[in-house]
Amino acid sequence: MSHWLQIVVATPAHSAIAGPLTYRSALLLRPGTLVRVPFGRREVLGVVWQVLPDSGGMPEASIRDIAGVLDGLAPLSSTWRRLVAFTAGYYQRSLGEVALAALPPQLRDLTTLQLTRRLKRTVVDTSHPQDTTDLIALSAQQACAIAEFDAETSEKQRPALLFGATGSGKTEVYLRAAAKVLEQDPEAQVLVMVPEINLTPQLQARFEARFAHLGRERVVPMHSGLTPAQRLKGWLAAHSGQARLVLGTRMAVFASMPNLRLLVVDEEHDPSYKQQEGARYSARDLAVYRARLETRDREHPHGACRVLLGSATPSLESWQATIVGRYQRLNMNERIGASPAGQPGGLPTVRRVDMNHQPKHCVIAPPLLAAIGERVARGEQSMIFLNRRGYAPVLACHDCDWKSDCPHCSAYRVFHKIDRTLRCHHCGFTERVPRACPSCGNIDIAPVGRGTERLEEHLAELLANVTRPDGGPVRIARIDADSTRLKGSLESQLASVHAGEVDVLVGTQMIAKGHDFRHITLVAAINTDSALFSSDFRAPERLFSLLMQAAGRAGRDAQRSAASEMWVQTFHPDHPLFEALKRHDYPDFAEQQLAERQAAGLSPFGFSALIRADAKTQEVAQGFLNAAAEAAQTQQLPGHAHVMAYPAVPMTIQRVANIERAQMLVESPSRKALQGFLAAWQPLLFETRRQAEFKSLVRWAIDVDPIAI
Ligand code: ADP
Ligand code: ZN
Ligand code: ZN
Repeated sequence: MSHWLQIVVATPAHSAIAGPLTYRSALLLRPGTLVRVPFGRREVLGVVWQVLPDSGGMPEASIRDIAGVLDGLAPLSSTWRRLVAFTAGYYQRSLGEVALAALPPQLRDLTTLQLTRRLKRTVVDTSHPQDTTDLIALSAQQACAIAEFDAETSEKQRPALLFGATGSGKTEVYLRAAAKVLEQDPEAQVLVMVPEINLTPQLQARFEARFAHLGRERVVPMHSGLTPAQRLKGWLAAHSGQARLVLGTRMAVFASMPNLRLLVVDEEHDPSYKQQEGARYSARDLAVYRARLETRDREHPHGACRVLLGSATPSLESWQATIVGRYQRLNMNERIGASPAGQPGGLPTVRRVDMNHQPKHCVIAPPLLAAIGERVARGEQSMIFLNRRGYAPVLACHDCDWKSDCPHCSAYRVFHKIDRTLRCHHCGFTERVPRACPSCGNIDIAPVGRGTERLEEHLAELLANVTRPDGGPVRIARIDADSTRLKGSLESQLASVHAGEVDVLVGTQMIAKGHDFRHITLVAAINTDSALFSSDFRAPERLFSLLMQAAGRAGRDAQRSAASEMWVQTFHPDHPLFEALKRHDYPDFAEQQLAERQAAGLSPFGFSALIRADAKTQEVAQGFLNAAAEAAQTQQLPGHAHVMAYPAVPMTIQRVANIERAQMLVESPSRKALQGFLAAWQPLLFETRRQAEFKSLVRWAIDVDPIAI
């Protein structure tokens, strides 16, 4: 007897086969079962999606048999399948692409024997009584936040947003919320997501220590830095229910967790929760959606699956949701151990340096330099951040105006002095610095502008006469993508900062995020103005959160917090963004921004998608987008009356690696109208792409809820 199954496999995103494929099986398999199936000449991993009553009219001879079942593995839950199907639909990608990208590739090669062995090896190990010795007493605000989170009784158990200042102890709240869920129900599972796991090994250690009493390997990591074998191991542990807590990056939102009861999204505003290729999903948004599915789809003995978002500078989308009451808001505005005499909540004093009144071309204003010098002399640490790595953003000849353009991109190549190269940060094209100007032969070519490498060098000169309390010279270190290229180098550099072996730390936003530096009493942002007047409406939101995060690095040690400072150099000291920053007043900043966005119909008051196209010429890239929009117009697609498609434009960096890039913005005040429109538009985009004039199109993609416009 044969059974007909619809099976999802990893179909290429833009192939004609978007949905599941039909296969035959001698065994009746449940939806969610993992199988191996022939696909072309290969054998691939597949997920049974649906059982068909018959062969659906297809000639039976053309239907292939499945190759095998990964027996021993429980089927993927219906909630998981619904999450995947929703993601594919909402972000306009194929089901197979989303489903298979959410599974560890090594699953395919797993034999039943290996599987049985693996599952055996992970037998429960009961040792470890609960270790309560390191349980710290909660602050009043932490206790209150937890009590409110638990007290949420409304039918739906709304998502909660923990609005907590940097250093207010959000992690402890996550730990307590997780502990409660895990203790109430011996099968319950918790998912904790962080934006960049490589920056937070501290966090993993804390969760492991806190939940050590649950047994070995109950806390598993899930992120792209793992080896395929580690990833498989963690996935299996989560899927089998063995792992009680998964700690991961955005990809972890798809972890198969049969008893998921709580999702935590730390730093929920962070742009890295948005996947920037393939299915461009927002893991934050999917976490909220998944919690709702988990609640609705299963009957839990202990009620709903909750989601807890946390941030000192929430995304304006989440913040607005708390204003209208869709999300519950939990407030913690004070730092742990803040002295009431200091700044509000124990946060550093913000000093704005008006660069209009500083010596021309100075990089570090004299008062800031003096403040750094004082810190060094007192044995305290300073952190200076600049969002530009390399030595100088461009090398130029002042005789003929030659500049170090990248021949393949519409961008300059950055001068890296350390190995005397010109490197394109977009396509990677690298060359030795020429001895003389390639255009006129002038040997006097000079760096223009400043990156972290040059800043480090410059600071060393400026602070040459400053001595540390022990009489030694100032020690400057730099942390950015270049200095941390080698595996383990970030960890060792961070360790030396923590150990107090560095007086001045220079770096990019990498150092502004998350680290619990104890001895830093001064933080400075030396060049931030470009974001104030960017064409991207989210630029001020990103700048504000970055500055608040950076400020959060200073004065974490309560004894020093009173004297800690955050310096910002700007030509626009009166800008309302800096006024709000000075008061550490996120709600005020959010109010300004939300008013502007409401007036302009921007997120969260309006919804948008970008359609991007890459081609050999702008003409083809833009032509494709405009033609597809015209086709949509002619065919009066569903929702079109409420959707506005703007003409195609070149992207800000319009050429990368010799490919011209264009984009088209599509907006609507209604999410539903936009969704309907995009779904109906997709086939037209495929059709347009097949036209002869767009043959040279390289690729196109839809980005729903884009985070950079
Ligand atoms: P946030 O994530 O809100 O910036 P953290 O969770 O990193 O803050 O907490 C800041 C510091 O305060 C950490 O070193 C943490 O161990 C400590 N901490 C948190 N809660 C407490 C508490 N109740 N008592 C003492 N120290 C605490
Ligand atoms: Zn020249
Ligand atoms: Zn380039």
